[in-house]
Amino acid sequence: MTEKGTIFNQNVKQVAFDGEHRKRMMARYDFFTRLAEDCTKHYANIELEKSRAFNIRNKAFKYYDKLLVDFETNVVSNGGKVLWACNVEDAKQMIYNILNDEKSKNVVKTKSLVAEEIGLLPYLEMKKVNITETDTGDFICYQFDERPSDPKHSAAHKSRQEISEVFTNNFKVKEDLNARQLMTVTRKVLNDKYFKADTAIIGADFIVADTGDIIISEDEGNVLKAIANTNVHIVLAGIDKLIPSLDDINVLLPLSSLYEVSRIKAKSLCTILKPQKLYVVLVDNNRSNLMSREAQRNIMTCIECGACHAVCPVFNTIGGHVFDNAFPGPVGVIQSISEGYENSSHLATVCMSCHQCEQYCPMKIKISDLVLRNRIEIAKEDSSLIAERRLFSFLIKRLATRKDMDKTKDFLNRIELKQLIKKTWGMHREIPVFAEKSFSEIWREINNSEV
Ligand code: SF4
Repeated sequence: MTEKGTIFNQNVKQVAFDGEHRKRMMARYDFFTRLAEDCTKHYANIELEKSRAFNIRNKAFKYYDKLLVDFETNVVSNGGKVLWACNVEDAKQMIYNILNDEKSKNVVKTKSLVAEEIGLLPYLEMKKVNITETDTGDFICYQFDERPSDPKHSAAHKSRQEISEVFTNNFKVKEDLNARQLMTVTRKVLNDKYFKADTAIIGADFIVADTGDIIISEDEGNVLKAIANTNVHIVLAGIDKLIPSLDDINVLLPLSSLYEVSRIKAKSLCTILKPQKLYVVLVDNNRSNLMSREAQRNIMTCIECGACHAVCPVFNTIGGHVFDNAFPGPVGVIQSISEGYENSSHLATVCMSCHQCEQYCPMKIKISDLVLRNRIEIAKEDSSLIAERRLFSFLIKRLATRKDMDKTKDFLNRIELKQLIKKTWGMHREIPVFAEKSFSEIWREINNSEV
């Protein structure tokens, strides 16, 4: 097992047996599954809409190279600037340089999974940039010095009491505040930051090739406030956010908020950004690698609706913090293959292939199949699996017939074999104990005959 795998397993063990954490995650799961049925009723034919979305995103892949250049041309003709970041370090450095060039003093940031992916907030804080997270869930997580645990519901793993305690500590407010009072404190703190801010760092839902527009949807209003109060806007987007035409948002935007907690058809606020001073940092960071993999590229059509996390029994047992990628849960598991098997082998095995996620995915992504593809590739590449591979190819031959199976059972019951398997399967899974006599052997004994 890789070093990352060992750490992952240790963290999983800790959190999976934390009863309080489980209770909160399961409450969220129950809420989502009850809500999900209602959400799809807003559509006369949800399956048709899913197919439309699937076709838009997949068609874009065919012309991606051209569409990305179109996007840059249109941003530039709108007065903006596009910067191409190959990796995490490039992206962070580029943003830091823009802040220096623009002499930014107070920066506000909105929700962005790419920012989590590149570790932007801690990096800028280390560089002594005065930056504030403005998404409520993420803001709460940062009060605990934690990163968001879930791409959609960042602070779902925290109780009201815990949040109240940390607010009392950090903002010197009364103890034991209720949810409404906690929201009031958050707004007060953030409003002050918006008014002082000169620069906004913004995540994008989609970027549009034929107009150079940036699409941002939200239901909090923090993006609008951040944009309205600042002159310099830095948009951070993965290259996979590209859609061919502005018309496509008619289909994609409502689907991306299909399962929003607030039970609205689409997020109530949608901003199409065309400001004066705009920088777009387009991040690759292994996305090209993922796109070149025919088997897994489909995961890039994801519109981050969050449904697959909400219904995943594994995610709802262990939460998002144990994953070390920005997009934890099913999507991150598949995406990790582009970072090499050292970063993905431990993740590929967490999926139970229950296929729940596929039932909800508005982009018709065959998530479990893609996880299986990862497993196949990892099994070929990972040398630590050589012993297991040999063992199983031996067993496939030895267990081909009932007679062979009867002869092999003593071997399968051997303690050394069980120890070997534990090394890769972990302490909680075992080869089952084979009965001393098989059914056919007992049958032969009773009936004194061949079966
Ligand atoms: S994979 Fe599908 S269900 Fe999961 S977040 Fe993306 S679009 Fe939503």
